[in-house]
Amino acid sequence: MPERTQMPVKLLHELSGAHSEGTLIVDRFAAGERRKRAVLALLGAWTLGALTIAIPIVHFVAPFVLFAAGIWLAVRFWKEHARMRELAGTCPKCGNNFTKEMEGAPDLPVWSECPHCGASLAVHARDET
Ligand SMILES: [Zn+2]
Repeated sequence: MPERTQMPVKLLHELSGAHSEGTLIVDRFAAGERRKRAVLALLGAWTLGALTIAIPIVHFVAPFVLFAAGIWLAVRFWKEHARMRELAGTCPKCGNNFTKEMEGAPDLPVWSECPHCGASLAVHARDET
């Protein structure tokens, strides 16, 4: 299981310069977890590829694509140290509290938008700027 951490962030509405505080929930993967996810992705894709060998016509393409996809997924999972899960905070433009699902690596600053007013928000680490 990944370690779930909370990162204090600053939400900045760049058009008005207003800002507020929020929290970014991030899953962090230890080396053992990353290795396990990489091996499972590789074995899963290669097993599926091996099974498609028995399917006429599909066996011309699918085993090769799934072989390559297994390697690609394994490398991707091995390199993924952390992933954003959720952003919670107060919108600096409209003042409503919100919680929003997030994807990707927590390489701040990242962009998000308020689900209430649609304002484009820059998410910075709280100690920055
Ligand atoms: Zn808003």
